This record gives sequence, C-alpha cells and structure tokens, in this order.
Amino acid sequence: MTRIYNFSAGPSILPREALEEASRELVDYKNSGMSLIEMSHRGKIYDEVHNETIFLLKDILQVPDDYEILFIQGGATLQFAMVPMAFLSPKAKADFILTGHWALKAYEDARLIGQANVVWDGAADKYTRIPDSNEFTLNKDAVYAYICSNETIGGIQWREFPLTGSIPLIVDMSSDIMSRPVDWNKVSMLFAGTQKNLAPAGMALVIMKKEMIEKAAKNLPAYLRYDLHAKEKSLYNTPPTFTVWMTNLTLKWITSIGGLNEIEKRRDEKAAMLYKAIDESNGYYRCPVDRNSRSTMNVVWRMLSEDLENRFLKEALKQGLSGLKGHRSVGGLRASLYNAMPVEGVKVLVDFMQYFMQKNG
Ligand code: PMP
Repeated sequence: MTRIYNFSAGPSILPREALEEASRELVDYKNSGMSLIEMSHRGKIYDEVHNETIFLLKDILQVPDDYEILFIQGGATLQFAMVPMAFLSPKAKADFILTGHWALKAYEDARLIGQANVVWDGAADKYTRIPDSNEFTLNKDAVYAYICSNETIGGIQWREFPLTGSIPLIVDMSSDIMSRPVDWNKVSMLFAGTQKNLAPAGMALVIMKKEMIEKAAKNLPAYLRYDLHAKEKSLYNTPPTFTVWMTNLTLKWITSIGGLNEIEKRRDEKAAMLYKAIDESNGYYRCPVDRNSRSTMNVVWRMLSEDLENRFLKEALKQGLSGLKGHRSVGGLRASLYNAMPVEGVKVLVDFMQYFMQKNG
C-alpha cells in the first residue's frame, strides 16, 4: 500500500513506524492472547504501558519533578473549561492574550466562570501576528496568564513564550507539542489535544506544576478535578487506552530518531523549504502572516483566486498530497508539518507548487 502525504491539521499524520507497530500488536498484544485495547486498565500489562508513556514524556520534554503529567479525556476543548473552573471565580481574574481562533475559544469559556481579562487582542491585524512583550501588561493580581502557543488555523506561533514573573503561565500547545522543548521556568501548565503530534484523538496531555494542582478547586464534579486525576495517576476512570498506547509508540519513535534535537532539525528544514517556495513565487502564493510570527507547524497561504485554490487542491490530491485545504473559517490553503511528516513529503509539495505555478501562472 502507498501512503499519501497527509497535511491535515488534525487528526493528522502519525509516524508510520508507530502505526506499523500498533498493527502488528493490535490483535494479540505481546502474546497475551488479546489486544491491549480489550484488557483491563487496572491490569499489569496496561499499567506498564501507561507508566512508560509518562516516563517517556518526562524524559523527552525534560519535565521537572515538581510537575505532574496527566491524561484527561475531552481533548483540548475540555481544558478550555477545566482551567477556569479550577482557578477562576467571579472574584478571580486571568489575563488572556488573544492571538486567534483557539485563544478566543479558551477566553470565551473562561468568561463564563470568572474575570477573563484581555491584555492584548490581535483582531485589528486579523490575528496575523504574535505581540511583542512590550505590547501588553499583565495584571498583578491575575491568577494566571493564558496563551495559545501555536494558532493552528491562523498559522502563527510564539517563538518565545512571554515572561510572566510571579503570574503562572498556562499554554495551549495542542498543535506544537513535541515539536519544541518547553522552558519550564516560564510555563506553569500546558495542555495539548493528542491528535496532532502524539496519537489519535481522545485525550489531552496536561502537564502542570504540583503547586497548581494543590490550588485547583476541589468543589467540582469528580472528573473536572485536577487533584483527583493526579492522585489516581490518570486512572480515576477508564482512560482511552488506545490513545495512550499510540502516544507511547509515537514517543518511542521520537526517541529512536534522536529526540527533540532531530525533531527540531527536521521541523526547521521543512518549514524553511515551504516558506521559501511561497516567498519566491512573486506573489503567486502569498502567506498573510507576519514573518516573525510564522508557524513552523501550520503554514497558511493564499492564491490569486478561490477558483485557483480549488484547482490547486484538486490537482494536489491527484499527486498524493491531501489535507491542504485551509480551515473553513478562513479559507485558503494550509499545510500542517507535524513531526511525522517526512522532509520528502514537503519536497513533493514544493515541487508540485512550482509545477502548478508554471502551468497556470
Ligand atoms: N487548541 C488548538 C491550538 C487546536 O488546534 C485545537 C484543535 N484543532 C484545539 C485546541 C481543540 O482541540 P480538541 O479538538 O482536542 O478539543
């Protein structure tokens, strides 16, 4: 079977090695006579996978000992609700930096629970850039500051997270988790839906400081309590065992190719290649995003007309290049260059872009 190059924003391409390993072990997991996804999540075999996954995350992301690693269902979207439920109230304030669709979603949920304060809003520039640190001032009494590390739809990304001093920084890293190291001096909590750089959909990876867990509200329904998830090592209820297992296999793949160093090397090579093709097209392809804010994970661009964009998409698909349609809210084109996308896939895309331009330019 030939796999095509899948540039979809999520669920998205996963490492072939991880998929092959899962398919080899799917029916009879390590000679246990059954599939891992059929067995008890309280048994020894699943427990090993679960704990190893946490270990691998800690190792690859260099997570310090005073942080907890949690698996929580409901994707990143449940975190939009759980974070303010844990830390906000009508009396407590959080500061939001609005960089686009996904930061806005989190802000809208937080507003329902407590004082959600906007300290910077990119609406005037149509969310095409990340602010400089001198463009916003945090409130001294904010219980947290919130950013979205990489706006999957807008195609903009924080190069450096802001310094927030004594105010805990909470970061949505759904679309760039595992593509960069995390500066734990800046980040008190991060979360990420798994369906991009980790696994199939089905949960969020949450990494948070233990002192934040202690501060999180406890007068909530059980599943919404970070302290219970931590106390039960993410086994408060039945976890999405398949997603945890696939996360495990993806992390082993990352380790096998050389860890985050190699991931970053490939990431920069892929992004540079694609942006170069856009920039050198004399406006035939046009990236609407501020240069210093360009995402290395989700590259967005426009063409001269929607008609041309549709033709591009159709022909690209014939060449085995799929998932290049921009999000329905903004249109245009988007290539997601997640970790599992080989450099070769981006070469094929860039060659196709040049061919299409020559033919239709
Ligand atoms: N945050 C970001 C940055 C995203 O890209 C997405 C999904 N594309 C979400 C949050 C929502 O994630 P989920 O679908 O897992 O709830």
